Amino acid sequence: MKKVAIIGGGISGLSALHFLKTTYGDKCQVTLFEKTDRLGGTIGTDRTDEFVSDWGPNGFLDKVPLTLELIEQLGGSHLLDPANAKAEKRFIYCHNRLNEIVPSPIKFMTSSLLSIKGRLRIAIEPFIKARTDWDEDETIHDFVSRRIGPESAETLVGPMVSGIFGGDAKKLSLKACFPIMVEMEKEYGSLIKAMIGKMKAARKNKAQDGKSSSGSASGPGGRLTSFAGGLISLIERFEDRYNSDIVTDCPVDLISMDDSQYLIKFANQKPSEKFDAVICSAPAFAASQMIAPIDQDIASLLDSIPYASIAVVCLGYDKKQIGREAEGFGFLIPRGQGKRILGSIWTSSIFSDRCPEGMAQFRIMIGGDTDPEAIDLSDDQLLDVVSSDFHPIMNINSRPQYVNIFRYKRGIPQFIVGHPAKMKRLDDLLKDHPGLKFTGNAYEGVGLNDCVVRSQKVVKQLAADLF
Ligand SMILES: Cc1cc2nc3c(=O)[nH]c(=O)nc-3n(C[C@H](O)[C@H](O)[C@H](O)COP(=O)(O)OP(=O)(O)OC[C@H]3O[C@@H](n4cnc5c(N)ncnc54)[C@H](O)[C@@H]3O)c2cc1C
Repeated sequence: MKKVAIIGGGISGLSALHFLKTTYGDKCQVTLFEKTDRLGGTIGTDRTDEFVSDWGPNGFLDKVPLTLELIEQLGGSHLLDPANAKAEKRFIYCHNRLNEIVPSPIKFMTSSLLSIKGRLRIAIEPFIKARTDWDEDETIHDFVSRRIGPESAETLVGPMVSGIFGGDAKKLSLKACFPIMVEMEKEYGSLIKAMIGKMKAARKNKAQDGKSSSGSASGPGGRLTSFAGGLISLIERFEDRYNSDIVTDCPVDLISMDDSQYLIKFANQKPSEKFDAVICSAPAFAASQMIAPIDQDIASLLDSIPYASIAVVCLGYDKKQIGREAEGFGFLIPRGQGKRILGSIWTSSIFSDRCPEGMAQFRIMIGGDTDPEAIDLSDDQLLDVVSSDFHPIMNINSRPQYVNIFRYKRGIPQFIVGHPAKMKRLDDLLKDHPGLKFTGNAYEGVGLNDCVVRSQKVVKQLAADLF
């Protein structure tokens, strides 16, 4: 039996534990070490006064079969809570009002969200020459400006990037964040042509075998899905299943080599222990410090991945306090619209059982890479800023009856331009360290699905090294 250590008890470490135990459980003995006294990492849920508030992520897109299989294997499928159909309505706050993003291209081209010039610029996209230097990375903002114009980049894509990554589209790498966009330009020479091509292909598939493709051709696809009782319900399934393989309150300090085994030194009283293999799922900056005794180049590379801070402010109101219709997914706000908040997710319109009858719950995001100071505001200051931005948009004139604030200092890794090259270099450097793997949201994607997929991949690589 090989001894394997997993470091970190967020979704990445827990998924790695599950994949190792279910696939290679007869060949290895696995222990997961978590620094804090709880599992879940960024995932957490408060259940207070009949309000259910997720701390960080509030769902995953149901488009990745592996995540759904994992949930089924953990016995959690019956708890799945997909977003309500009415939550499909999404808005962008611009020109002092909420503008609905209509999925129909014709309706979109006639809406007043973009100027006539901005809309015409989108219309000529198929005639814009595709790039040829495919090896070069570029920012999301540069790509979108090049293809559909700077106004769309600022108004449509900038807020989406801060909504997903807490990031700045002018810094983030297109290749790392939206590789599908690179492929679309490469294959079709145009995003509009690619969307039409993909829609035709989907229609053909549907006609042939009755199957429909999930999500839209161009968008992220899939339906936002959570669990009854919030996302922590998923972590509780892992806890129930793997309790005896997990040690909490156990921070790893350093990893070094000892007789071709990995020697883990803990930052508490626990004696050091040797392992044949290690999967580290701690955030890259923490992993960097642990790994320094083994490989300074890997440590520097991990340390060079920046993180953005973000705060989530959950507010609850009596529905009578809200002076406008609040059914939909929520809204995002482009920078330069006189608002500091990044946007709002209308939690109780999306998921059931998130607040008491007759009330509504909203999540408001503030901070991110374009506003790093927001995380340092006190609770009162955050509530003041958020209320004064949010209330006029929603036509609310009185204070919230429920407030819950969550802060993530260094919360979301930023895949800035050059990230794909860093990942390639990491893979090369790791060839000298068989049995040492890194998983987590800092490498191939920040979403929960990405973490699960990456963890399965590193488990397979580890098995190739060990067995
Ligand atoms: C505000 C916010 C909203 C988000 N919304 C969504 C969303 O709606 N949908 C979505 O798909 N994704 C979302 N994400 C992203 C997603 O939540 C994360 O990418 C994912 O949860 C990361 O999981 P992880 O296991 O890789 O890392 P983490 O959750 O950070 O877990 C790492 C674990 O390692 C532990 N650790 C650290 N150092 C040590 C050490 N020395 N020894 C032992 N353990 C250690 C930590 O305590 C932690 O438990 C959101 C993120 C944030 C911050």
